[in-house]
Amino acid sequence: MSSSILRQSVTSLPKIGKARAAQLEKLGIRTLYDLITYFPRAYEDRTHMVKIDELVVGEPACFRAIVASVPHTSRIRDRLTVTKLTVADETARLRLVFFNQPYVSDSLQYGKEYCFYGALQEDYGAQMRNPQFEDAEQSGVVTNRILPIYSLTEGVRNKWLGETVAAALRVCLPIIDDILPPSVLRKYGLMPAQEAYRAIHAPKSFDELSNAKRRLVFEEFFIFSAGLALLRADREEQKKTAWQKTDISEYLNALPYSLTNAQMQALRDIQADVTSGHPMNRLIQGDVGSGKTAIAAAAAYLAFLNAEQAALIAPTEILAEQHFKSLSALLQPLGMRIALLTGSLAAGEKKKLKSQLENREIDFVIGTHALLTEDVSIPSLGLVITDEQHRFGVQQRGTLASKGVDPHLLFLSATPIPRTLSLILYGDMDVSVISELPPGRKPIETYLVGETMRRRIFAFIRKQAAEHHQVYVVCPAVEENTELELKSAEMWADTLQKTVFPDLSVGLLHGKMKAADKDAAMRRFVEHKTDILVATTVIEVGVDVPNATLIVIEDADRFGLSQLHQLRGRVGRGDAQSYCVLFSSTKREETLERLKAFCATNDGFKIAEKDLALRGPGDFFGNRQHGLPQFRVADLGADLQTLYEAQEATKLLQADDLLSSDEYAPLIERIHILFAEGMPVLN
Ligand code: ADP
Ligand code: MG
Repeated sequence: MSSSILRQSVTSLPKIGKARAAQLEKLGIRTLYDLITYFPRAYEDRTHMVKIDELVVGEPACFRAIVASVPHTSRIRDRLTVTKLTVADETARLRLVFFNQPYVSDSLQYGKEYCFYGALQEDYGAQMRNPQFEDAEQSGVVTNRILPIYSLTEGVRNKWLGETVAAALRVCLPIIDDILPPSVLRKYGLMPAQEAYRAIHAPKSFDELSNAKRRLVFEEFFIFSAGLALLRADREEQKKTAWQKTDISEYLNALPYSLTNAQMQALRDIQADVTSGHPMNRLIQGDVGSGKTAIAAAAAYLAFLNAEQAALIAPTEILAEQHFKSLSALLQPLGMRIALLTGSLAAGEKKKLKSQLENREIDFVIGTHALLTEDVSIPSLGLVITDEQHRFGVQQRGTLASKGVDPHLLFLSATPIPRTLSLILYGDMDVSVISELPPGRKPIETYLVGETMRRRIFAFIRKQAAEHHQVYVVCPAVEENTELELKSAEMWADTLQKTVFPDLSVGLLHGKMKAADKDAAMRRFVEHKTDILVATTVIEVGVDVPNATLIVIEDADRFGLSQLHQLRGRVGRGDAQSYCVLFSSTKREETLERLKAFCATNDGFKIAEKDLALRGPGDFFGNRQHGLPQFRVADLGADLQTLYEAQEATKLLQADDLLSSDEYAPLIERIHILFAEGMPVLN
């Protein structure tokens, strides 16, 4: 079977001992499979052969030449030797200089022909330093080929890594299974697996390379998509007794407002799920401020009606606290017993709470991931709600489920993703989209400004503070970064406090702070002990400070539109008119266009589409976590079309057969590897 071989340690290869294995480990390479999927980060075109007189200064190229002088080595300083020689072809002569490579005198023989690769330099007349070379008769290793360039680490050289990958390929290729069925290969015109793995490491041409890449990207998306299909199939097989009580009118009456149509629709989706006889697995996607919490509360209330416990998991303690406060106010009057469980709870309190949960004296528990990891037992857990879903991975989606007896799962996400994409990325879930905001919201007024407006913006900040409102100031970096000249949160907070607003209180919050300090800083802002909070993008995730009416974003061109939108969502949460000010000194037309488009709309989905169209999905996904597995070759940005095709191809598989039929064993193994062994279904 191939599987055991793919997962064999790299030490099963000749000449790889502990020391080498440790170096490879630093690159994330442990198994033979890791080696053959350690794809080059770039390729150097060394196929182009020129004559010496065609060499261009600074542009590396290959050429054949005869050694025209006996190499001469001299010692210049203590630790420096220089070997010089002349080579020639029919067009010209060229001086070669090798530093600290005295052995070159032996390997380059007078009168013999070699292939060289290097770039011409023009410092002391035309010469070439340290070119790579090999026998003209046996070229094709360092010259005369497309050379793969790997990401390296200390002690690991490109040549050695290439040879090691080649050794692993020799072992693996004969036994590797093509997980793509022949019909799929034919339909999408894909290269067979063996060929693709060989070609990506040693392409004979750039055409071949691009075919190999396409095949491997397809394969990876196919595995991903099959994994999601499997999760879904598994879920559909699970049974959960349908909840009988679905009348939530009491809850609706208790709400201080009436739900929007979109909220009502999401609620109906949930009602249908929980009465279906299977566990719910639903993602609620709604723009910031669209009122997802009210839906979560309704779901928790449904659990309560049906005598099951519910849990809500928030990404930060402070957010958990806020949810606890607002949900208690709403749900306690309806008879629900609600508790907050976070890491900072005193030991005694925690113990008491745990036993209450165990004894079903708590109906609804709110907390952070601590809820997942700690030894908390919630015996009749029937619903798990996860807020700000994009922070949780596919694996965690699975771990959650293992807490209860197949509880209903509800995920809330404020990351607008174009619908076509979300259907694929969250292919194992059902999705409800909340496409409207509650009525009467004042759109946040957004302005793009340059340095000339600095003083006026300071005055504007002061005005907000005078009206007892609060202000966020977002910087792209934490520490001083002279290279990029970005505003750093630390420095800027200091400047604002000392020289601009000495009479106001300025806080600081960034990702490199300890969790407790972060929490404390956020808390001071929530309690209005600070007027101005200077922060990095850590404030992105849903804390509610309705009193904050202005967000100033420094170097706004450094952020993606979706991220800016997320940041802007921190204000406009109260009744007062709110503002977003983007500082940018960029002159680039495209960037300005992008930022102006942002100023013109408050619609997160429109912005996401625009972001995707303008920056391409690479950047769109680049700096955010989407809880997706780590793709080795596929790039959600560049390879979107292939993603669609691969997903279409997975539909040809019979998900039901996946687990039972031996034919799919290699695919199952690869699903395992891609999801980093985290697929609970398969265990
Ligand atoms: P998000 O979707 O970003 O989590 P929240 O659930 O925090 O949004 O809701 C934002 C604010 O809107 C809250 O103060 C909430 O009370 C209010 N809200 C929610 N739904 C409605 C509605 N239908 N009508 C009026 N206000 C609402
Ligand atoms: Mg929220």
